[in-house]
Amino acid sequence: MNRSKEIVAVCHCILNCNSKVEGLSEFKGAQEISIDLINKGYGIIQLPCPEMIMYGIKRWGHVKEQFDNRFFRKHCREMLKPYIYQLEDYIKSGYSIKGIIAIDGSPSCGYNKTCSSNNWYGELSGCKNLIQKIEDVHMVEWKGIFIKELENLLMEYDLNVDIIGFDESKNKLSKEI
Ligand code: SF4
Repeated sequence: MNRSKEIVAVCHCILNCNSKVEGLSEFKGAQEISIDLINKGYGIIQLPCPEMIMYGIKRWGHVKEQFDNRFFRKHCREMLKPYIYQLEDYIKSGYSIKGIIAIDGSPSCGYNKTCSSNNWYGELSGCKNLIQKIEDVHMVEWKGIFIKELENLLMEYDLNVDIIGFDESKNKLSKEI
């Protein structure tokens, strides 16, 4: 059988839900959409999980404002560059990159929406207004920082690859690939 030469890149937790903040994920191991991608004959590139690499599995949940700084962005770019080089080489060699699947809602990997708050930071143990802090976390129509840097790199390297948001709660892509 000939290889399909069709590839998708996915955010890390599509194939390994264990990387998500503890308590958030109700998925056992991998997202069901992985089966659809395999059945379509796509090769799958798994992007690194920026939060796991920088903060480990015992991290708290964050909002995009906490990651919106030059240090985090710089690390994201360093993590992503080897993948950009791979995508570039595949495209140059006649392979088709069907898309990059992002995780909507994530402060790192969201594409259509990401979680946001200007008040979600600081020491929690003595916090007098914790409930208000929690209630201030909300979704906005913006990109997570890792995905924003990915989008910047795709443009810088002149790679025409779609990024597609994935809504985990509905097991649905914002656009079919
Ligand atoms: S940072 Fe991205 S890859 Fe890692 S768990 Fe969150 S959404 Fe998934």
